[in-house]
Amino acid sequence: MKIAFIGLGNMGGPMALNLHKAKHTVNAFDMANGAVARWRQEGLAIASSADEAVRGAEVVISMLPASQHVDQLYLGVGESAGLLESIDAGTLVIDCSTVAAATSKKLTEVAAMKKIAVIDAPVSGGTSGAVAATLTFIVGGAAQDVERARPILEQMGKNIFHAGEAGAGQTAKICNNMLLGILMIGTSEALALGVANGLDPAVLSEIMKRSSGGNWTLEKYNPMPGVAENTPASRGYQGGFGTDLMLKDLSLAQENAMGKRIGTPLGGLARSLYATHSLNGAGSLDFSSIFTMFHK
Ligand code: NAD
Repeated sequence: MKIAFIGLGNMGGPMALNLHKAKHTVNAFDMANGAVARWRQEGLAIASSADEAVRGAEVVISMLPASQHVDQLYLGVGESAGLLESIDAGTLVIDCSTVAAATSKKLTEVAAMKKIAVIDAPVSGGTSGAVAATLTFIVGGAAQDVERARPILEQMGKNIFHAGEAGAGQTAKICNNMLLGILMIGTSEALALGVANGLDPAVLSEIMKRSSGGNWTLEKYNPMPGVAENTPASRGYQGGFGTDLMLKDLSLAQENAMGKRIGTPLGGLARSLYATHSLNGAGSLDFSSIFTMFHK
């Protein structure tokens, strides 16, 4: 298929490459020169603009940081028209960014007026999942559009869940990430406590993994440098999932909880801790660097 891919960051780059390797004709674009240079070197064809990338595309995929980026890209800002003006009627848009459910719903509605189908398909599984094509896609949208997207999503991931109508993918995703943010802090506290008492962090991690405290952050994403290979912690917290992106997701969860009058006390506390960590200069480091709040 002819696929346009917009946003070649930590996640989008490897996802686009997997589609290229699966023999799709991928026309990619990113506004950052560094990302463009890196993925061109890996063999991706890079368009000179988002408009050029979507020309003649049957499917458009985006993987951008936050709501404002998705809004501006597709719907435009001020005088400049959004990408929806350049996308052919009948095209399927798959937005994989984690954004507000309201952003996804609005995009789906505006696009429908132009006969363009949109699904929200945020992902879970981290950068290693993006590289290995083992991501979980959490999808919102019309059932026929989700089925149309399924063969493409299967080339980037192994679990595809249809959460409900437009925006439902985003809602399910922020529930998951609120839990992830809390788990990373809890795991960091427990490791720091053990190390302060002279325990070997690798041994303690193995004990907790096989005990009732076991969780994904211990299994795949140990926050203490040197305990596990190929984690952001073991490469100076570079790459991975940025603290500011986690802060965005926890803020989305809190906004949602306030609107629904639901109490999420640990989610609120986690948001405050990541906000403080970001203010202390760690915004662009991987979110597992929250560990350094508890252990130096
Ligand atoms: P990133 O910051 O590494 O990459 C985002 C890319 O989008 C950047 O290269 C940026 O230049 C590009 N971009 C922004 N606006 C653009 C525009 N208008 N046109 C073209 N390119 C544009 O972010 P990431 O880690 O790849 O995350 C992307 C999304 O996936 C976020 O919503 C994040 O919350 C979510 N996510 C990330 C992870 C992870 O482990 N990193 C895991 C699950 C979900």
